[in-house]
Amino acid sequence: MTDLLSLSLKELKELFPEPKYLAGQIFPFLHNGATFDEMTSLKKDLREKLKEEYVANPVAIREKFVGKSGTIKYLFELTDGNLIEGVYMPHDYGNTLCLSTQIGCRMGCSFCASGLDGLLRNLTPGEMLGQVIAVNRDNGGNIKDRAVTNLVLMGSGEPFDNYDNVLKFLDLVGAEKGINIGERNISLSTSGLANRVREFADSGHKVTLSISLHAPFDTLRSSIMPVNKKYNIGEIVSASKYYFEKTGRRVIFEYTLIKGTNDSNACALELAKLTKGFPSHVNLIRLNEVKERDHQAPTEDATKDFLKKLESLGVSATIRRSLGNDIEGACGQLRRRYLENKG
Ligand code: SAH
Ligand code: SF4
Repeated sequence: MTDLLSLSLKELKELFPEPKYLAGQIFPFLHNGATFDEMTSLKKDLREKLKEEYVANPVAIREKFVGKSGTIKYLFELTDGNLIEGVYMPHDYGNTLCLSTQIGCRMGCSFCASGLDGLLRNLTPGEMLGQVIAVNRDNGGNIKDRAVTNLVLMGSGEPFDNYDNVLKFLDLVGAEKGINIGERNISLSTSGLANRVREFADSGHKVTLSISLHAPFDTLRSSIMPVNKKYNIGEIVSASKYYFEKTGRRVIFEYTLIKGTNDSNACALELAKLTKGFPSHVNLIRLNEVKERDHQAPTEDATKDFLKKLESLGVSATIRRSLGNDIEGACGQLRRRYLENKG
């Protein structure tokens, strides 16, 4: 069955040329998360026909876990029964949704729960948009008065391993007649597929780009992120500079601190060298411990010490608040726990 949320307004018009008003009416309904039954301005027999052939809501909320500070972790169910997750984080400046781009991930980073079972499949553009729409609606929003205002593509999956669908999603979520979240309010995090970073820089899209660096030396990085054997640090940094030159947006380097692995003085020094000379920012994250992995998180004090070292070396850096620890916040952990408990 065709998932209508994956279609642009233009494609919807091509699919439903007659009656002429139809596509224009359905599009906002879809982006508000309405079911076919709720599209009451359409005749009943038309709604029944649509129901037989098309999917309006590819993402359903299966479970919700409310954590401290209003954070909500969502477990979503797709039409084929697969489960994915997302996190809604309310802030004073707006509300951010962290969404997934793939079911699982094939990058195999040694600290991450999403990659434990490899990649199951890519999400369609409609399945990415469906997460935004479901959470927006669940929090009382619609396309005019949005509850979700900011997006981070940092849930399960490597967005640049699902490149075409992610680009189409960015177009759909920014559609004027849809929820219309602009790229200034979207961050995309990648494990560093340098060729895609360059292609993306040339694509005309201008989201905030986060690069998961996590280590400043190639041998160390390869040992925790196998993708480094394909695109090494030099290639990633050079692609990041290219992204800045093309878009004018400073690049964020994410650095998850793992005790005894990447938290040495030598690492801080090298990280400072790497990020010198072009506008960038380092986001330090304390590891969210994953029970299947044997990495440990440094203490909060050790994390602050690492920050101070970077700052004394002239690096622009902050510690990212680790939201949602109490509700299996790290990507891939909730879905895993849920599947384990079921079976
Ligand atoms: N695949 C992309 C985006 C999803 S992961 C990427 O890797 O960038 C989003 C961020 O969470 C990445 O920086 C990733 O390295 C980090 N991350 C994954 N598992 C983590 C964990 N257990 N603790 C802390 N950060 C983690
Ligand atoms: Fe994939 Fe990102 Fe997890 Fe690495 S950190 S396994 S790239 S989701």
